[in-house]
Amino acid sequence: MSYIYLGNLSWVEAREVIRGLDFVILPTGSFEQHGPHLPLLTDSIRAEEISRRLAEKAGEVGLNVGLLPTLKYGVSEHHMNFPGTITIRPEIYIGFIEDIGASLARHGVRRLAIVNFHGGNNSPLQVASSIIRSRHGLRTYIIPWTRYAREYIVEYLKPHESWGHACEHETSMIMALAPDLVKRDKIARPNLAKRPEIDTFLYFNEFTDTGGLGDPLRADPEKAKIIIDKANEKIAKLMLEIARSDRW
Ligand SMILES: [Zn+2]
Repeated sequence: MSYIYLGNLSWVEAREVIRGLDFVILPTGSFEQHGPHLPLLTDSIRAEEISRRLAEKAGEVGLNVGLLPTLKYGVSEHHMNFPGTITIRPEIYIGFIEDIGASLARHGVRRLAIVNFHGGNNSPLQVASSIIRSRHGLRTYIIPWTRYAREYIVEYLKPHESWGHACEHETSMIMALAPDLVKRDKIARPNLAKRPEIDTFLYFNEFTDTGGLGDPLRADPEKAKIIIDKANEKIAKLMLEIARSDRW
């Protein structure tokens, strides 16, 4: 193992290593509907396993990385009209993330990387990262994982133009990472309504009947494995550049 799972350390061990880490990684997911065929924990399953592999990859390129447990709840109000979804109010979420950053800062951690797997968390995380930096002095990097994987998703899965949730991408990922949790006989193409071209808050049931997007029938777990490797490699290299630069 080329990274440190921080939760397994004693405080004595933490004292030895924590200041020497290039990054502490916090994976963030959600607990929300992902169509009729994927589990509520879809984003968190991706967060947990893909971040673990990213930590490994970061170790291979020479970084000293500590991994935190995955935050398995997120900001998911837009999915609340589908049963089972749990949402955290944005102000609570921002405060929770701030407190994690503040605690790490007090122990001398140098950089926090939040690897995020749920779009609804992005804006609150941006706010939290500016608060952590300005109030607590800890450099915090937000890595929306899918943004770094996008070019490979497009290249390998050739997704339907509306992909992005419980679609060919996320279905491929859960087929690869937790195949027993995919309800294969429930995979169906959603009926989608056109969304307005000006930003406005919408509930997912206003534009998809299944809760999903894209075309989950195109899912392919073998392609998911390639996409994970390539995206993680790209992110690990960016982290290395940051850690080696004395500016950031
Ligand atoms: Zn998702």
